[in-house]
Amino acid sequence: MDLNPIPIVDHHAHSLLKPEATADAANFRQWFTESTDPEIHARHVPHSLFFRTGLRWLAELLGCEPTLEAYLAARAAQPYDAWVRRLFHEANISILLCDYGYQGADSYNHAELQALLPCRVEPMLRLEVLAQELIVQHDTFDQMLEAFTVTVGQARANGYVALKSIIAYRTGLNIAPVSREDAAAAFVPLKEEARRAGYVRLASKPLCDYLVNVALAQAEAQELPFQFHTGFGDSDADLRAANPLHLRRVIERARCPLVLLHAGWPFYRELAHLAAIYPNVWMDLSLAIPFATTGIPAMLRDILGMAHFSKIMFATDAFVMPEIFWLAARWGRWGLGRVLDEFIADGFLSPAEAWAAAEAILGENARHLYHL
Ligand SMILES: [Zn+2]
Repeated sequence: MDLNPIPIVDHHAHSLLKPEATADAANFRQWFTESTDPEIHARHVPHSLFFRTGLRWLAELLGCEPTLEAYLAARAAQPYDAWVRRLFHEANISILLCDYGYQGADSYNHAELQALLPCRVEPMLRLEVLAQELIVQHDTFDQMLEAFTVTVGQARANGYVALKSIIAYRTGLNIAPVSREDAAAAFVPLKEEARRAGYVRLASKPLCDYLVNVALAQAEAQELPFQFHTGFGDSDADLRAANPLHLRRVIERARCPLVLLHAGWPFYRELAHLAAIYPNVWMDLSLAIPFATTGIPAMLRDILGMAHFSKIMFATDAFVMPEIFWLAARWGRWGLGRVLDEFIADGFLSPAEAWAAAEAILGENARHLYHL
């Protein structure tokens, strides 16, 4: 079935880079992999399905040869703003929830992104990045904790629609209860590092766990959905510690909606099970779509066979280049449409039921969960 008419609520994605930062071949190629290794970017990305197929589809869109040189030349001939809007229109993305924690000086900020895109954009608050800034700014643990608690506690009032934690690839998802004393002790060496370097990367387990527990309480008070990165992702992730099964203790205590990201890939069966048994667990499909490419239907067949359609949400987790949003939307609609067609052919769902499931997964579930 052709799912293009169903608008997408992209409930997990990141900001775009300014056009200069994506215009040459090396810059362009590197965003087709989660690897940060230049050898992977230069030698192996051109041999990946995500890159090859993506380039073919994009070249069709601009009517050029499916080579990187021809595509970049055709792309450079487009006014950039108009090109971005065209991709978002064709992807039929109606609302974007954006995590601005993953970005540098050459990224669009919230006001710039909202002005650029033809869809509504709402911000999410990334907790570890906030904590890092506060460790640099404050001298004592008590001051830092007070600022963190107040900022997170006012997230909804300040326009944030969700909290987001990347603890999975800092210290892992096996989040434990931590005493205030242990968290305060862990603050001391980090503050020393911040004084020396002017920057700190928060990867202290007692402090990460303590702050996520504080943030969970604040999310409950505001009825804010809480997104956890799970499964694969940035190259600093220890995949073993990113298995969503580690979250059981958090899930059983938390009184706010928990959105477990990236289908937990490759642990999507584990995550589908968690979504099926716990009322406060939602399953996101982003990053696994588009990166799993031809594996997307197999993944969706398993997930839809186990979890409730009302608990599954499509997103792109796209970043830096507008092309990634469009490619993720295309791979996602293709995979979901294909699996739902099979369900209809096998007599599992009526066409109307399959269409309603697609509407729920592509947008309606997120619209309700985030009160959009
Ligand atoms: Zn993300």
